[in-house]
Order: sequence, then structure tokens, then C-alpha cells
Amino acid sequence: MVMGSLPERTDLVVIGAGVGGYITAIRAAQLGMSVVLVEKEKLGGHCLNYACIPSKTLLNISKMYYEIRNSDKFGISSQQTTIDPKKMYQWRMDVSGKLEKGVEFLCKSNGVEVVKGSAVFISGSKLQLTNGTEIDFSKAVIATGSEPMELDGFPFGADVLDYKKALSLDYLPKSMTVIGAGYVAVETATLFARLGTQVNIIARSDVLRVFDKEAVEIIKNSLQRLGVKIYAGATPISKQGNAIKLSTGDTITQDVVVVAVGLRPYTTGLGLENTKVTVNEKGFINVDNTLTTSDTNILAIGDVIGEPMLAHKAMRQGVIAAEVAYGMSSAFDNLVIPSIIFSDPEMAVAGTMQGAGIETTKFPLSALGRAIAMGKTSGFVKIAHTKEGVVKGVEIVSEDAGNMIAEAALAIEMGATIEDMADTIHPHPTFSEAVQEAAEAALGRPIHFFYGKPAGNQK
Ligand SMILES: Cc1cc2nc3c(=O)[nH]c(=O)nc-3n(C[C@H](O)[C@H](O)[C@H](O)COP(=O)(O)OP(=O)(O)OC[C@H]3O[C@@H](n4cnc5c(N)ncnc54)[C@H](O)[C@@H]3O)c2cc1C
Repeated sequence: MVMGSLPERTDLVVIGAGVGGYITAIRAAQLGMSVVLVEKEKLGGHCLNYACIPSKTLLNISKMYYEIRNSDKFGISSQQTTIDPKKMYQWRMDVSGKLEKGVEFLCKSNGVEVVKGSAVFISGSKLQLTNGTEIDFSKAVIATGSEPMELDGFPFGADVLDYKKALSLDYLPKSMTVIGAGYVAVETATLFARLGTQVNIIARSDVLRVFDKEAVEIIKNSLQRLGVKIYAGATPISKQGNAIKLSTGDTITQDVVVVAVGLRPYTTGLGLENTKVTVNEKGFINVDNTLTTSDTNILAIGDVIGEPMLAHKAMRQGVIAAEVAYGMSSAFDNLVIPSIIFSDPEMAVAGTMQGAGIETTKFPLSALGRAIAMGKTSGFVKIAHTKEGVVKGVEIVSEDAGNMIAEAALAIEMGATIEDMADTIHPHPTFSEAVQEAAEAALGRPIHFFYGKPAGNQK
């Protein structure tokens, strides 16, 4: 697909139309640059077609299904509720399709030339496309993303799936083993367990090892309530038929295996050797804070430049890269990149929760009106702040934590204090009040929770 006539020279070429790439292209076109956006698969990349959006679409369906079937305590009898995996799959595909069309429309409307095919660097100022066309560019942005890593002895195949296949099933496996311990593993396990699949997780040390133990404990308890069996401290040794042998001596069986052991940068066939672009020991492209590579006319953004591999990081970098390519003095200098795990309950973190001179205060959801009303009381909001009260980090385990964390990110970016958060009127009755309550507690004037003794200075 070429949406207009393809120029032989362009101000900017963007390789990869994932969330990072298409945003770069649109922003650059808004600035008045001529832009060619090259994509070898689908507009919207992994996020829209195989990862963020499909997983959250399916997680939402599984949540509805699970909650309806477990609503006796609210007076709803619904044991007859069934799920039709083919319809669920159709909805998931339709959502991605709609968003892909939306990206196409936005690119066209902003004057971006979209080309379907692979791009290869021939030099630091020339690209070749699959159809043989060569394009001279003034600036290029590499936004080629990442790909799932394979695990030795568990090659992807009919019953060993990567995340793309796992999120594109039109049937429900009776049983599933997820190998991995990060957020993709936890989200995949949550999604299928809610739909009735018997799920095992194999975690080399433990699930979500890098996160706060107190928060992770809530998520692990919830996984166990869903029937997920966690084999912590276990390594999968071999697979024969549908049986996996573990380092612990256990043998587990399943219909399908999902390998979720990480992502690696995708630079295959890109021709980086024909440029001055360098990569680090893990293959991620090296950039400075203006997202410029060691080849000064080439920038890189998103998953291909490294952790954290998150869509909202790629999106922000897309805007910066376009502005830098245009000649503006922009830089990727955000203080926080929030991260969310769409577990049950959700967990979200922004900023730093530990360090010299940092104090934390926690407010439990068991004391929050909205949480009690909805029967969603497991979780908390924790605020980390300096002695002077400057907010440095917020951790939330709660229904809707993903939406709530945006306030925290803004607070940290703006250098807000716990007083600012406490004195800002938060609408009632909402989960967001837990952030205000935690800030009030941090100031020593908690209202809706008694911390065992009259707290703080109570002024
Ligand atoms: C299961 C799962 C769930 C996730 N959920 C979330 C979430 O909820 N929130 C979140 O923030 N992040 C999430 N992520 C991470 C998120 O998907 C990525 O961070 C994001 O997609 C990165 O965007 P990108 O633009 O860098 O790359 P991508 O979206 O991977 O896009 C890269 C594009 O480049 C194209 N391409 C590659 N090479 C070439 C070439 N030579 N020529 C032309 N085109 C090329 C590819 O086809 C692809 O379309 C999730 C990841 C996984 C695996």
C-alpha cells in the first residue's frame, strides 16, 4: 500500500508503524516535514495488533465473565453464564482492525506517506524498500520494536505459543502452562484462569520479583484464588508430548504452553551494518537523550532502544524524535515512566519508592467507601516522599490502578508535595480518594483510617 506517490527523497523516513513510529510520523508531518512511514506488517504494530490492546480487550472480557459468575453475594445468580471463544476472538480482532484503520486515517489526514514493506538501510542517508524503491532521507527514525524471545528446548510451534498466538486463540485451552514471571506472564495467566482454563506458572525465582513484595503478595493470592498454580523457583527442563519436567522434580501437563520470558530488540534485516548506528551487548540501539544514534541523522525510539519496553514510553519518544528531527531542542527527559500490571487487582507504580531520605505512607482500600461498596478491598495506595514532603513515588494496588497512576505521574513531574495531593479535592466516591487519603496520612492527619495511635503533628 502506498497512500500517495512515493517520493525519491524525503525529510523524514520512519521505519515501523507501531505506536512509536506512527506517532513520530504524525508529529513530524504536523511540523511540516515530508514523511514516509514504512511498515512490513500492520499499522499500529505490536501494541494495537498483538500485545497491549488485544491483551486488555481479552482481560476485560474475562473479568466480566468471571465477575458475573461470582456475583452471588450481590444477589445476582448467574451460573448459567457461558463464554463463546469464537465471538470473543472476533471482538478482539475487530478492535485491532478498527484501531488499525484509525491509524491509517490519521496518517493520511496528516499527509504521511504510508508504504507497506520492509526497509533496509543502504547507507546513513539512503533506504531501500521491498519493492526496490530507494529513498534518500535527511533524517530517519528507527521504530522497529521487539520480538518475543524463545526458550531453549521449547521452540515455538503448535502447542508452544508466543504472546501473539496466545492472544489470538479462537478456542479455550483446558489447561495452560505459562513460562515466565513478568507482567506478560501474570496478565496471560489472569486472563485464561478467569475464563476457566487450568493455569500453571513456572517462575525461575518468583512472579513479579522486581516489584514490592507486599503488593505482589496480593496479586499472588488472587492468582491462587483463580486456581493458578505457581511453581516458584523452578526451571522447565524438557518437554515430551504435553508433559514438562521441572528442575524441582515435578512434572506438569497442559494443552498449551505460553513462553513469556521476555522481548528482544527487532533489528533483523535492517542493514544497520551499512550505517554508523551502534547497539549494546543485548542488541538494543544506543541513543543519547535526544534519541539520536551514533549516526547523527538517524534516531531510534521505543522497544528497540531498550527497557522499559512500554507503549507509552514509545509514544512519548515518538513526539520527541519528530521534534528533534525537525530541529527543535527537545529531549527525552521525563522523570517518570509509569508501569502497570493488569492483574487482579491491577498494580501500578510511578517514580521511586525507596532511597535515602525517602519515607512511605500507606492507605488500605479496606477503609475506602467505594472499595467496600464494590467488594474490592484488597489493595492499597502507598506514597513515597522526602522529609520536605516532595512526592517521589506512588504505588497502587487497586481496581483501576492503571487509571489512578496518571495523577501520580503528573504530581512527580511537577514536583508536587503530599500537601498538594492532600489538598486537591478528589471526587467522591472514587478509588482516587485513596491517593488523597494516603497523602493526608503522610502529613500526619489521616481521616478515614486509624493508624493505631494519634498520628503525626495533627495540626
Ligand atoms: C503481551 C504484551 C502486552 C503488552 N501490554 C502493554 C500494555 O498494556 N501497556 C504498555 O505500555 N505496553 C505493553 N506492552 C509493550 C508494548 O507492546 C510495546 O512496548 C510497544 O508495542 C512498543 O512499540 P514500538 O513502536 O517500539 O514497537 P512495535 O509496536 O513492536 O512496532 C514495531 C513495528 O515495526 C515494524 N518493523 C520492524 N522492522 C521493520 C522493517 N525493517 N521495515 C518495516 N517495518 C518494520 C514491525 O512490523 C512493527 O509493526 C505489551 C507487550 C506484550 C508482549
